[in-house]
Parts: sequence; structure tokens; C-alpha cells
Amino acid sequence: MDIWNKLISSIKNKIDADFSLALRDIKEVEFKDGVLYLYTPIKISKSIIENQLKDLMEETAEKLLGKKVKIHVSTTKIKQQSEKKEDSHYQFSNLNPKYTFSNLVIGECNKLAYSACITVAENPGKIYNPLFIYGDVGLGKTHLLHATAYYLLSKNPSAKIIYTTADTFTSELISYIQKGSILEFRKKYKDLTLLLIDDVQFLAGKEKTQIEFYHIFNALHLIGSQVILSSDTPPLKITGIEKRLISRFASGLVVEVKKPDLDTKISIIKKKAESMNINLSKDVMLFIAKTIDTSIREIEGSLLRLKAYSEILKKDINLELAREVLRDILELKQVEELSIEKIQKEVASYLGINISEIVGNSKKKKVVMARQIAMYLSRELTDSSLTQIQKAFKKKDHTTILSAIEKVKETMEKDRKFKLMVEFLKEKILSL
Ligand code: ADP
Ligand code: MG
Repeated sequence: MDIWNKLISSIKNKIDADFSLALRDIKEVEFKDGVLYLYTPIKISKSIIENQLKDLMEETAEKLLGKKVKIHVSTTKIKQQSEKKEDSHYQFSNLNPKYTFSNLVIGECNKLAYSACITVAENPGKIYNPLFIYGDVGLGKTHLLHATAYYLLSKNPSAKIIYTTADTFTSELISYIQKGSILEFRKKYKDLTLLLIDDVQFLAGKEKTQIEFYHIFNALHLIGSQVILSSDTPPLKITGIEKRLISRFASGLVVEVKKPDLDTKISIIKKKAESMNINLSKDVMLFIAKTIDTSIREIEGSLLRLKAYSEILKKDINLELAREVLRDILELKQVEELSIEKIQKEVASYLGINISEIVGNSKKKKVVMARQIAMYLSRELTDSSLTQIQKAFKKKDHTTILSAIEKVKETMEKDRKFKLMVEFLKEKILSL
């Protein structure tokens, strides 16, 4: 089919090799009323397409056809699909609708946890039970848990799912005990398809809750209900929880979510910025990704602040503003300030000239250009004053620096190739 082949060839270079396998499993394609129906017999391929590729595919198809296209993928053959009723929608008040797999960026840091969640949602109670996910705060554990619940619901709308946190579980238990209706509490947690308990480390020191939870867990396990747990530490490192409970925690699959690497952070920033309607240049994204290495929640917070600052100050979001907004973090981390010397070195080596020429007086065209770019980048990328820059370039006064900056700005406006080069250098230096 024409649109399908076109779509495949336009996206094939943009997607991860692991994911492109999913597209090869498509057995039937039909395009009707703006919907591209796909059939794959392989469940995991369907989930990969829905969770990882759909947005890109819809966007690309829209570009190709000039109108909105929806992708619908199913493990039922297309003819039989029309006979199937639409899934009903379930609303779970304590699930955050933003925490879906399609909003989750997958990288090395969470690939394992993500696959484990998908596997578990497709085979609840059958493969990894319990699934125990641990990792530092703000790295996406809660997001994964909610997404798994939504995903299971989308496959099986009648699934009985409870998502709760260890804290809520505890206070709920207390209130049931006070009402004298502990049996009702136990009944609530019976016969579930999936039980998700977030932040189980908070069961520490709460003996009564632990005993109750132990029994609930065993009862669920016996009938093959899936349990997913999250914690900020691996099971064996949790203190204040009974041994027998810890050994239950560790009896299935234990996976860690780690800190995202630079590339993953950039993808996350890109995605968040899009959803928050903020326009970020590549260098600002890179700067944020490099500056924040604690958690993804921190990244979100910084983007919000950046947006607020830019609206209040009516300024575009650029590196200068980003540096201002992230000042606290920068100071706290005592990030090694990018030195002018480093910039001179990078620019010189990129343009194939000597560093002594950059700070010298040669009037050779290439050297002059390199010198001007290095001056411009020193102003853009560091907090140095004009006088400091002037000294670093061994100039007598700072008008030379100002006119170099002007010259670079002008040339960037006129000359696309030059602009690309400067931007490339900027990114390269920032990523050092
Ligand atoms: P945790 O439960 O581990 O403390 P959360 O699940 O609450 O972390 O995540 C914190 C924030 O970061 C959430 O808003 C979540 O959507 C976001 N987040 C975490 N990981 C990712 C990711 N891989 N892709 C996109 N957003 C993420
Ligand atoms: Mg959490």
C-alpha cells in the first residue's frame, strides 16, 4: 500500500533498531476515513508501536498526506476488528492521566523496567510476580506504575486494579480497623488482577500494616494476581521491614531505574518542552541536561521556572535566561565554569589553526574568523565580563570584542552555513 510504504521509508531512519522490528511484524494494512489500521499477530509489537512509534507515525503520515491521520493497531485481523466493540473507558481517580507509556521516554536507564512492566501487563500474574522496581526519587517509578495500570486496562477493561502507596495503604487500614471492619478491607484487596503499591519503603516500622500486607500479598499470589511494588532502595537494603516480607519482595523480578544519560535527558526535555508549549533551542536543552543530574522531576521544575521567567520578563528563552534560572543549582554544584581558554582551544582545533594564533594578531582571514567566533562564544557561553574576555584575548580594549560579537551575529544572519558552524561549535563546547 502506497501510504504505508511511504510512511515506512520516511521513518525508518528515525527509529531505534529494536523498535523497527515491530513494524516488520505488520501483516495487514488498511487506510479508511483517516485511520490507518494495522494488524500484527505479535502482542509486543503492538505495544511498541502504540507506546513508542505512534506519535512519530501519525505526525509523519500527516505530513505525507497533508491531513490528520490516526494509527490504529490491533492483534485482531482487520476484518474481525470492525465486529469488535470499542473498549470501554475506565477512570481511576488516583491515576495521573499524564503518566502513560506514550509520555515516557525510554533509555538505557529504564529500558529494563519498561519491558518488565509491558511483559507483566500482557501476562499479569504469569511471569514476574511480584515485579519490584526501585530507584532514586524522581526517576519515573510512579509514572511506570500508573502507565502499567492504564496499559493493562486498555487490554482488559474489566481488569480489577488497585493502585495505592504504602502510606495510603497504611492510613486506609487504620481507618478500617477503627471502624471495626477489617474484613471489608481484606475483601477490597481480594481477587484483583493487579495490585500496585508505590513507595513500599514507607511500610518500615509499621508492623501491623506489614502483617496485614503480608497476608494480602500471599492471598493474591496464590490466585495468580499480579503485584508490582516500587521503592527507593532494593529489597535487601530496606530497613525496618520484616524479613519474610522482604524475601517476598525479592522473590520475583527486581529491576532498577537509573538516572538517565545525557541523550535520554535531552529527549525528555524535548518532550516535556513540547507538552508545555515552550520553545527551546538545542543549546538550552543541552545546558539544562548537563546542569541537572539529580532527577527528572527537577528537570520539569526547571522548565516550569524557565517558562515563568520568560513570560514575566518578556524575554525569549536563551542560554542567558537558562543560566539565570538554574543559578542556584549551578552554584550548589559548583559546576566548573566553562573557561574562555577551553573555548579558544575548541574553536582553534575545529578550524585547524593554532591556539597562539587565536590570541595573536594575525590578519589571515581564517584566523580572524576563528578569533571572532571564539570571542562571541566566550560572551555567550560564560559569565565573563567584556574586560575578562578582552584580557583573555590579549586585546587592549574591549571595543574589539564588541565589534567581533556584532560581526558574528551579522554573519550568522546572512550566512546559513556559517550559522550552522557556530551553532555546532556551541553545542560541542557545551557538551564537553
Ligand atoms: P518517582 O516515582 O521515581 O519519584 P515520578 O514517576 O514521580 O518519579 O517521576 C517524576 C516526574 O518525572 C514525573 O512527572 C514523570 O512524568 C517524569 N518522568 C520520569 N521519568 C520519565 C521519563 N523516562 N520520560 C518522561 N518523563 C519522565
Ligand atoms: Mg513516586
